[in-house]
Amino acid sequence: MTHLQLIENSRIGLFGGTFDPPHWGHIKAAMGAADELNLDQLAFLPANNPPHKRDRKFTPIHKRKHMLELCSGLDQRFRLCMIEAEDDLPGTTLHTVERLREIGYNEEFCHLIWLMGSDSLHDLPTWHSPERLLESIEIAIMPRPGYPVDKAQTQFLKEVRILKTPLVKISAEEIRSKQVRLGEAVPAPVAEYIIKNCLYGFAPD
Ligand code: ATP
Repeated sequence: MTHLQLIENSRIGLFGGTFDPPHWGHIKAAMGAADELNLDQLAFLPANNPPHKRDRKFTPIHKRKHMLELCSGLDQRFRLCMIEAEDDLPGTTLHTVERLREIGYNEEFCHLIWLMGSDSLHDLPTWHSPERLLESIEIAIMPRPGYPVDKAQTQFLKEVRILKTPLVKISAEEIRSKQVRLGEAVPAPVAEYIIKNCLYGFAPD
């Protein structure tokens, strides 16, 4: 997948997550957000070891990166940004945004929008310095089944933009625990990779 590029006046969506694995929920929400926000680039930022999921073991980052790369052909606006892993960032969104600002992604040069599913909006009050995060970047929310936006008990609701992206009822956890059919939950090349590499207990026939 092409890496995120620092292009003047570019409108850039930043989509952070563990992507273990990337699935149609991520992809369709990302495509919808890119359309609605008129984005030139939409970067997936796989997290190395996110602070809010420390109790879990993740598929190694190079494999999650590879699975994202297998999704690159689905939309020509898709990009990869490995800053969290490569710069060994602590994994909080604020640190990531601050790092991007340091390396030139400032608002005078390009416009950044942080994308998150509505489950993350519910969690936002528990994030590291949410007020500072909202001051440092525009945030747009992609609704997710089971996490109604209007039920988010958060004072931040009025400060974020709620998108009309498609509702897709898939989560990575359901894939890992085999509650959904792999072939319906992820793009075909990702399903093939998961089976070939025996990820999540899947195996070739
Ligand atoms: P897990 O089940 O492992 O917690 P996940 O499916 O929630 O994973 P993550 O990689 O943790 O996926 O999520 C990254 C981002 O994608 C988060 O902002 C999350 O809200 C968003 N997201 C995940 N699934 C969907 C979906 N089906 N629709 C919209 N947004 C989603």
